[in-house]
Amino acid sequence: MKCAYCGHPETKVIDKRETGEMDVTRRRRECLKCGKRFTTYERVETVALTIVKKDGRRESFDRNKIISGMLKACEKRPVSRERIERIADDIEANLRLQKRNEVSSIELGNIVMEKLKDLDKVAYIRFASVYKEFGDLEDFQRELRKLVNRKEEKNDKNKKGEEKGRDSS
Ligand SMILES: [Zn+2]
Repeated sequence: MKCAYCGHPETKVIDKRETGEMDVTRRRRECLKCGKRFTTYERVETVALTIVKKDGRRESFDRNKIISGMLKACEKRPVSRERIERIADDIEANLRLQKRNEVSSIELGNIVMEKLKDLDKVAYIRFASVYKEFGDLEDFQRELRKLVNRKEEKNDKNKKGEEKGRDSS
C-alpha cells in the first residue's frame, strides 16, 4: 500500500479493525519513509468457492471440513493440528489464487490426498483407502472413523494377547 503523502511503497499497519460493513477492514498505516499516518479502508474480494459433490449437490467451501478430515486421518500420528490447519489454508489459498468458482469434491479430495502423501504415509493410506471408494469428505470421515476404531480394537487385542491363536490377521 503506497503512502498517501509521499508515494513510498512501504507502509506498516499500526492498527487494524473490522468496520462492521461486510468484508471491509480499516487499517491505520504509517509510512516507512516519511512517517506520516493515514487510514485505508480495504475490501477483501471474496469469490464464492463452491464444492460440487459427487451427487451434484453444491455447498460452499468449508475449511473446517478439510481440517477435520485430515485430523481424522492423522489420528494418533505425529502431526500437529497447526500443521494441518496450515495445509488447509494452503489448499484454500491455492484454489482462490486460481480464481476457481467451483471445485469437485473428488478433486478436492485428491488435493488433500497429495498433501497427506508428503505429510504422513499412514495418514495418507488411511485417507486414500477410504476416499477412493467414497469420494466425499463427509462419507469419508464416517468410514475413516470406523477404520480407525477397528484398528484400535485389533491393537488392544494384540496387546492383551487374549486373542492369541484365534486372531490370525
Ligand atoms: Zn510517506
